[in-house]
Amino acid sequence: MAVSADPKSVKVNLTTGTGMDIEWQDGHRSHYSFPFLRDACPCALCNEEREKAGREPGDSPQAAPGALPMFKPAAKPVSAEGVGKYAIKFNWNDGHDLGIYSWKFLREVCPCEECRAVRAVIKAE
Ligand SMILES: [Zn+2]
Ligand SMILES: [Zn+2]
Repeated sequence: MAVSADPKSVKVNLTTGTGMDIEWQDGHRSHYSFPFLRDACPCALCNEEREKAGREPGDSPQAAPGALPMFKPAAKPVSAEGVGKYAIKFNWNDGHDLGIYSWKFLREVCPCEECRAVRAVIKAE
């Protein structure tokens, strides 16, 4: 089964802060919260940090055992812009803006139940 990585529509809910909605050409719908997208930032820096910690894109960083939780304002983009026809990028409220989120990447990390289940199976194989 071919998985579409072409969005039919993309909605970034900057004002309401509710995240991003993508409807794909194959009819699948994905919803991404902004903190999820921030934790899934595909730039080299964030990638390396995630790999070191063994996190999947979108997993929030775990505080070290016994450490006091650090206060962090919820991640939210200040602005979002399209990158060519293949990606979108966000300027985050923490000043980070290196991640280029390709549609392909976004489809791969779709956080819906269905896609999570598929990824769990692939990982177990
Ligand atoms: Zn990053
Ligand atoms: Zn999905």
